[in-house]
Amino acid sequence: MAQTASADSSPAPYRQALDRVIYLLDRDLAPVQKVRAFLRGRTILDGLDPGDVERLALAGRLSSLDGIGPSIDAVVRGAYGAGPTAYLDGLEASTEVPLGPGAELRARLQGDCHSHSTWSDGGAELRAMAEAAMALGHEYLVATDHSARLTVAKGLSPERLADQLVEIEALNEELAPFRILTGMEVDILADGTLDLPDELLARLDVVVASVHYKIHQPEREMTRRLVTAVANPHVDILGHCTNRKVLNKPRKPSTFDADYVFAACARFDTAVEINCRPERQDPPDELLALACEWDCRISIDSDAHAPGQLEWVNYGCDRAAELGIEPERIINTRTADDLLALCNR
Ligand SMILES: [Zn+2]
Ligand SMILES: [Zn+2]
Repeated sequence: MAQTASADSSPAPYRQALDRVIYLLDRDLAPVQKVRAFLRGRTILDGLDPGDVERLALAGRLSSLDGIGPSIDAVVRGAYGAGPTAYLDGLEASTEVPLGPGAELRARLQGDCHSHSTWSDGGAELRAMAEAAMALGHEYLVATDHSARLTVAKGLSPERLADQLVEIEALNEELAPFRILTGMEVDILADGTLDLPDELLARLDVVVASVHYKIHQPEREMTRRLVTAVANPHVDILGHCTNRKVLNKPRKPSTFDADYVFAACARFDTAVEINCRPERQDPPDELLALACEWDCRISIDSDAHAPGQLEWVNYGCDRAAELGIEPERIINTRTADDLLALCNR
């Protein structure tokens, strides 16, 4: 039987609407339970025939299904023109990620150097992350899932990393000219060595190194730990250097001799990250200014764990612009080729 393939390839209206709601909740850092409720609802409806979803929506009977609450019911009815679209419209407006003085810089960003997918603790497949990055106008996205030590985040063993590299190659063929660059957010161990052998780090395009445990070591130890890590020739970016948290459960920053650490970053060509996650906003302004005084390169990274969070680079652009950081200092204003040339010097 002849098929109208083009009409069949776009997602059903309920799916488009629910995907958008999930995207918007993520960019608003909404409570995980709320996002999960929509993800569960989406899975339930995915299990039905799309025609049945439409019939139930038009008849106002969706909420008779287990796991479909009034919000999901309203969104799906709106998607089929059987009710107002107020819920989704309200979210579009209330979750918008503002962009002020950093607008010009934002327009110069070519990509994002720190992101997670379901390969570790991200909430979306790598393909969905890449497609969202494309929609934001990026030329590339670096896939930096966690390394193995972070077991709570399903960190990548060398074997799983190899599998991820195969997936990236396939996706890149399909999504070209967009590029997923290979990478990892490798854990900085307590003595400053890294959670992946050098020969594997050498195979990756961009390596972010971050501390995720023992974040309140004595200052001398933390200084030595960070200097050791950023001096590793395979490390390109120092991730969220103080590990402070300013929202949700606030957390004090690590203490280290920032002059030593940033001097080492400058000496060994390791960029200092502006981590754009709203709960991190790391490093604080005074340290960011100090990194620039030491002539460090800077990377503006979303550290997105879901597609909607990729928009958070706006926050970092505003911070960089407010501090007068020159676009030339920011490594992700470079094209993918220029970034690779810089990282694989
Ligand atoms: Zn991290
Ligand atoms: Zn991360």
